[in-house]
Amino acid sequence: MENKKYNPYDQMLMVLESAAQKLKLKESDYVALKHCERQLQVAVPVVMDDGSVQVFEGYRVQHNSARGPYKGGIRFHQDADMDEVKALAAWMSFKCAVANIPYGGGKGGVKVDPTKLSQNELEKLTRNFTMAIAPLVGEYIDIPAPDVNTNAQIMGWFADTYSRINGRYTPGVVTGKPPIIGGSLGRAEATGRGVMLVVKEILKAHKKSIKGCTVAVQGNGNVGGIAAQLIAQEGAKVVAISDISGAVFCDAGLPIEELLAFSKQRKLLKDYKKDGVKFVANPEGNQMVLTAAVDVLVPAALENQITKDNADKIKAKFIVEGANGPTTVEADEILNKKGIVVVPDILANCGGVVCSYFEWVQNLANYYWTEKEVNAKLEEKMMIAFEGVYKKAEEHKCPLRMAAYMVAIERIVEAKKIKGYYY
Ligand code: GLU
Repeated sequence: MENKKYNPYDQMLMVLESAAQKLKLKESDYVALKHCERQLQVAVPVVMDDGSVQVFEGYRVQHNSARGPYKGGIRFHQDADMDEVKALAAWMSFKCAVANIPYGGGKGGVKVDPTKLSQNELEKLTRNFTMAIAPLVGEYIDIPAPDVNTNAQIMGWFADTYSRINGRYTPGVVTGKPPIIGGSLGRAEATGRGVMLVVKEILKAHKKSIKGCTVAVQGNGNVGGIAAQLIAQEGAKVVAISDISGAVFCDAGLPIEELLAFSKQRKLLKDYKKDGVKFVANPEGNQMVLTAAVDVLVPAALENQITKDNADKIKAKFIVEGANGPTTVEADEILNKKGIVVVPDILANCGGVVCSYFEWVQNLANYYWTEKEVNAKLEEKMMIAFEGVYKKAEEHKCPLRMAAYMVAIERIVEAKKIKGYYY
């Protein structure tokens, strides 16, 4: 499903450059942001269930630490590579700055299709990867979290492995853990909840209500699935949703709760059958979701999904990016010309890392909050981030993506200036 025609790191550099120019920054102020501070590539051997040994390639990239420890998820995906992880790390630096949480940006990945592994192999892979990157992480150094194809159980194994190396339980080294071992309540839903809040907010800013509006969601994972559920609970009609097998459509609104329960059993949409719900296999199903005639489109899968090849066919009036990097630079220009409002990834999906920050704070204090408290704090942080970006866009009469990058870069550059640059 991933579009390898576009190097995500080059895409990131293009947006960074335009935002820096719009801010009239001196090259010396932001040149460091074009580079990742540290990149680690590791080999991760795993004794498979059949006794053979397979070696997987893993990465941890630390992009920038001007505002605090590196922060960002770990993805397990067959298409993961160094350039992708580098771009994802840079986006984390910008995301944490937009959300105004005290972190820099990092990201990790393992090139593996986890659906081909048994639970036992998955655990070994996670523990061996943790050991391989352990010299670079730490609760005040670099704090991983879940991303594509990784979940609370995997973060639990990560925390346990790192803690054994460290000689004491160190829950603050990773976020997105199961609540029973120090995870935050609300973390599993936080990215989807943040996306829902942003959908509401952008509609409100355009004097529209979420009630009754139509929504298409690309991706049925932790972000897309939860976002669809919460958006539907707010009274919107989710009429299309996809996964790796294809997409389901229903103009009257999909039975989202039922679909979510179905997917939770590790089943694919191609096997979901219900009267009035139409299934279309990928790649067509995926394209039909992206180009559906809806009010709001939520791409919540992978990078480079909206490109110059399909941007012109998009009918949604609003795009809220649940995924990281779903829109290429060329596509963004087409969308802007068409007057489609795009809420960029670094704002739209920052709910996950904001809640990760809350988890980390709870771990360091060893004092735990109720889910109500977590959700209230999440909403407050998201609203402040949204307002900051929205104001910047109005002030500079520019799209929200440019405004979000401007807010982020200003904050990172200011922090770096105060700390001191080069010697
Ligand atoms: N992987 C998520 C993201 O891309 C969450 C990162 C985190 O919680 O550190 O924002």
